[in-house]
This record gives sequence, C-alpha cells and structure tokens, in this order.
Amino acid sequence: MSDIILHKGREKSVFRRHPWIFSGGIARVNGNPQGGDMVTVRADNGGFLARGYWNARSQIQVRILTWEDEPIDMVWWRKMFMRAIDGRKHITSNAYRLINAESDFLAGLIVDKYGDWLVLQALTLAIDILKKDLAHLLMELTGARGVYERSDVDVRGKEGLKPSMGVLAGEAPPKRIIIDEGVQLAVDVYGGHKTGTYLDQRQNRMLVGELIRTQPHLTDVLNVFSYTGGFSVHALQHPQVHAVNIDASADVLANARENMRLNGLDESRAEYIQADVFDDLRTRMIANELYDVVILDPPKFAHAQAQVEKAARGYKDINLNAFKLVKSGGYLFTFSCSGAINADLFQKIVFGALEDSRREAQVIRVLGASDDHPVALSFPEGAYLKGLMLRVY
Ligand code: SAH
Repeated sequence: MSDIILHKGREKSVFRRHPWIFSGGIARVNGNPQGGDMVTVRADNGGFLARGYWNARSQIQVRILTWEDEPIDMVWWRKMFMRAIDGRKHITSNAYRLINAESDFLAGLIVDKYGDWLVLQALTLAIDILKKDLAHLLMELTGARGVYERSDVDVRGKEGLKPSMGVLAGEAPPKRIIIDEGVQLAVDVYGGHKTGTYLDQRQNRMLVGELIRTQPHLTDVLNVFSYTGGFSVHALQHPQVHAVNIDASADVLANARENMRLNGLDESRAEYIQADVFDDLRTRMIANELYDVVILDPPKFAHAQAQVEKAARGYKDINLNAFKLVKSGGYLFTFSCSGAINADLFQKIVFGALEDSRREAQVIRVLGASDDHPVALSFPEGAYLKGLMLRVY
C-alpha cells in the first residue's frame, strides 16, 4: 500500500478527524497509487495518521475512511454499514438516508432507503470502483430487494467520473415507490430529484403538519418551490386547509396531484401553479394576497463560494416577497440548501429581507435536515440545509 506523507503541521486537520486531504498538504507519495486505491496517510516523521483512498485527479487527493491502523476490507465496510443502519433503527418512516457520506465516516457514499429499495450515489472514484460489492453487502444487511444507482451528480466530474445510473444489485425498482412518512408519497427513483425525493426535509414537512394540527386557525398554505407537494400533503391532512403549490416543473406538479390522490385528498383542495417563483411571488404580493403559512424551499442558489453574493440577492428577493405574503400572526418556513451559505449568513439575509418588508418576525425554531442526515462535528461542511421557522407580524 502506498504512503502519503504530509507536510509538517498538516497532520493537525487529520488529528481533528477532518476527512479531506488536499494536494497542498501532501509533501510526497511513496509508491505509485492508482486512482481509487487505498493509501496510508503519515506525518512527516513517518508516524501513522489515517487510511483512506486516493485520487490524484481530484483536489481532495485523499478521503480518509479510518483513523485506526486497520485494513479497509469487506469486514470493515460491514462494520461501518451496521453502525449507520443501527443508528436509524428508531425511524418510523420507511424512507430515509441510510448512509450520509462523510458524516457517517463513509466518504463519498450516499445510500437512501425507499421502502424495499436502496438508491446509491457514488460521489468518488474509489466508491465507484467498489459500488457493486457495496451494493451486494447492503442488500444482505438490509434485506432490500434491489439497489439502484443514481450517480448523476456534477461533483463526480471533479473525480474524472461521468454520470452513471442503473441496477447495481437485485431487482429493478418499480416506476413509483410509495413511501410513508406519516403521509404517503409516490417517489420516482429513476427521474426524481436527488435520489428520488428530498428526504432531508421529512421532519420539517411533518413539523408543518403538526403546527396546523395544533393551530387549526391556520388554513391558507403557500408552498413555494413545492416539488411534489410534500409540505402541502402534510398540511392538507387537516380538512380546513387549502394549499397553493408553485413550481417551475410540470412533471413534479403532476406528481403532486398524484400524491393528493394517493392520500385520498380531493385534488381541488390544492392549486398547482407552474410558474417562475420570482415572478409569481411578486404578482401575488402586488395583488395583496395573504397566507397563514408560507413555505419557501428553493433549490441550491450557490454552487460555489464565487456565487454566494448573487445567491444572497436571490434569497433576499424571495424572502422579502414571502414576508409580505404572510398574514399577521402567520408563519414563514424559509430554507437554504446552499452549503456555501452558512447558518449565520442565511439568518442575516433573511433579516435583511425582513427589514425591507417592514414586518416583524420571531424565530420559533432553527431548522436543519432530518436526523437521518447527521452532520459529523468534525465535518461542518455537511450542514448544507438550514431553515428558520418564523412567526411574522
Ligand atoms: N420542498 C420540496 C423540495 C423543493 S426542491 C420538498 O419538500 O419535497 C426545489 C424545487 O424548486 C424543485 O422542484 C424545482 O423544480 C423548483 N424550482 C427551481 N427553480 C424554480 C423557479 N425559479 N421557479 C419555480 N420553481 C423552481
């Protein structure tokens, strides 16, 4: 196995258990590791630091898998998979993230469970090489009927990889998998966003349902960037509620109607507006529309640090209009899934929007991803989803 020797002082981040080693931290390589090979990371005095996998093409040349001097073999993967699986045994939904990459100390690997099927995303070359073996092991450990790959994400390009989709093990999933998170949702793991849907928002969707259950005077819901209408379906469990879904995509709105039928809800209790949110919110604001609950869950506006300023203007624009659309005493749920915008900055942007709206707001809850999406304390980069539940006056 090749040795990766770090520059003096660069062992600090390894001691802190950060899983990434950038090219600038590496003094020399002893051996001739091929992309995806396991390597040993050593301090400049030769002492063992960690073990992980190598890819010279990536800026992150080593991703650490273990800080112990132990082999990374199938026994190791089994041990780590069991840890991730055991940590989710309490979850009542049948759809959740089973393995959350670096935050489950399994760099580069995402596995989501949708009922009897698993969907795997291989973000790095090493995981791509191992994916079939890992898929078979996951089937054995979970009893899943099949593992489908949805590695159609841009970050793979940084590892020299192209998108890859298809069955890795077992049976192909059906066209729609019906998941149950208190309400039922029809998920398209072949074409849906991410690995099929936004599992990270599950507990926040449930929170909206719970809010309306305990405050039945909340009747009018505006679900902005609705995707397949998950937030609305939770809200509409309560018969007094009417919901408006806004999304740019006709396909996801068709899936939102399907989700209404699936839950025995009359489609007429919701609207399905195919529109650009930036224009649509402005139109509603000018028309003086008001809602009891507004949910604002945009896609990632900042894909990199360089886009933060422009993204901040986008977030401010939609939050400003959203504030104006909330009835006094109503609620705004506002989110950002841009990793490049931290929780502090997000709160500042939302506050800037509030100031301009001349409204008042209180933070009722600070929100993040559901608890099946843990964030390793040593890996703050994992905390991409931020949200605020605000009461607005
Ligand atoms: N809240 C959803 C997830 C929202 S994902 C859930 O819990 O499932 C973001 C959605 O925004 C996607 O469905 C995408 O189609 C939509 N979208 C992106 N840009 C948009 C725009 N400018 N106007 C309207 N919708 C947009």
